[in-house]
Amino acid sequence: MILIPKELLDEIIAHARREAPSEVCGWLAGEGNEVRRVYPVPNVAEDSEVRFRMDPEVQLSTMREIRDLGLKLTGTYHSHPRTSPVLSAWDRGLAAYPEAVHLIISLATREPEVRCYRIKEPFITVELALACQPT
Ligand SMILES: [Zn+2]
Repeated sequence: MILIPKELLDEIIAHARREAPSEVCGWLAGEGNEVRRVYPVPNVAEDSEVRFRMDPEVQLSTMREIRDLGLKLTGTYHSHPRTSPVLSAWDRGLAAYPEAVHLIISLATREPEVRCYRIKEPFITVELALACQPT
């Protein structure tokens, strides 16, 4: 189970809507299973409408900032502007971070749909429950 304050989830959804039809991406940081902060990272993929690649420099400075704050990397988030919140073949490349949680925000439906996964191996994914805390 991953806990995320409603305020932060709203922030991620607003980010996704702002950049659509491009995908957005970023890091989630917190403690244990609780997300405390959200860090948008520019998507530098050439075909940013169907995949994402985090800007490597911003990614590094973000990781440093999270560490300096004494927080842990909870995982990543990214958006699917036109498709369901299911991991794509490309997303499974995130298996490089087996401990991380991967949140996907889909804008394919009128109400955004959010799902959360952990990727153990490229073809084994576990869907996690996501709880939104009122703020
Ligand atoms: Zn994706």
